[in-house]
Amino acid sequence: MFQETPTSGKVIVAMLAGLALVLVWALPAQAADKEPGRHHHGHAVAAQHAASTAAASTGQLYWYGGPVQNYTKTYAIFWLPTGYTYEKGGSSANYRTLVERYLRDVGGSTFANPTTQYYDSSNWVSNSSTFVESVLDTSPYPVHNGYVYTTDADIRAEVVKWIKARGWVYGIHEQFFVFTASGVLTYDPSLGWSNNNGSTGYCAYHNTFSASSYGMQNVQIVYANMPGQDGHYPCYAKTFAGYNSSGQPTYYWYSPNGDYAADSAVSITSHEQFEMITDPLLNAWKDASGDENGDKCAYNYGTVATDTGNVTLNGHRYILQGEWSNAIAGCAWYRAYPYH
Ligand SMILES: [Zn+2]
Repeated sequence: MFQETPTSGKVIVAMLAGLALVLVWALPAQAADKEPGRHHHGHAVAAQHAASTAAASTGQLYWYGGPVQNYTKTYAIFWLPTGYTYEKGGSSANYRTLVERYLRDVGGSTFANPTTQYYDSSNWVSNSSTFVESVLDTSPYPVHNGYVYTTDADIRAEVVKWIKARGWVYGIHEQFFVFTASGVLTYDPSLGWSNNNGSTGYCAYHNTFSASSYGMQNVQIVYANMPGQDGHYPCYAKTFAGYNSSGQPTYYWYSPNGDYAADSAVSITSHEQFEMITDPLLNAWKDASGDENGDKCAYNYGTVATDTGNVTLNGHRYILQGEWSNAIAGCAWYRAYPYH
């Protein structure tokens, strides 16, 4: 289904207004993607390029010796202080519900089977991902120099806070996602700002830190920083559909659940989840350019059906980017059986 805009004419205006910047940032974003040392500071999913699907790097993933998550437990922290929302024109509850539904549905799915071709020194990845718990945190966001935004340190502290509060297990198998509100950006000294209405930045990233630095056990914590996707159109699930008569790019917009921000957030969540499975400590599976399985298929949705979904998990429809499969040397959405 082709649509110029996901919700309203306002969106078109936003897209056109951002066009010049969009075309400009395509190159810097690509450069940042290759930035040396980036992996020491987290692994970000860049915003979608203006007039094409993501320029996937070529080549297979190689194992760099680090561990994988041979099974996965997922935890979600929805950090939403009073007065904030995940969707200015929609429903915070629906945003949370869709993300959680995905986290429940993905484990054991045919969609997740391609991960089972990857391994570490002791295990193959198994198709096992269990959603354990989510929490809603209404405590205020940090204020830095008079501005509300999060830093990587804030996100780490948020993860630690809830691990302690809930007694959550942490270690190589656990994934902690932190979802922050619409319009609340995040800043990292190495990665810069998260996406800001298409002008610059990334959509999300995953990273790791030692729990011992917070007085906990000497194991790594694996987490993803998920800034609000609402209105960050370069992060939305869409495919370039050609230029209109004014020379502006147009897109096919996808949202099988009728919630563009939330459906796109789910695809970004999937991107980070699969990267944390195959590269939890940023030293396992990447290609020669440093791209992980999610990066190589970012914004690639394969065959999209008329409901604008491309994957069914547990009877529910989703729009999900592919994940790189060495076995087919391409992006995969499906494998009937696990490889191992
Ligand atoms: Zn990535």
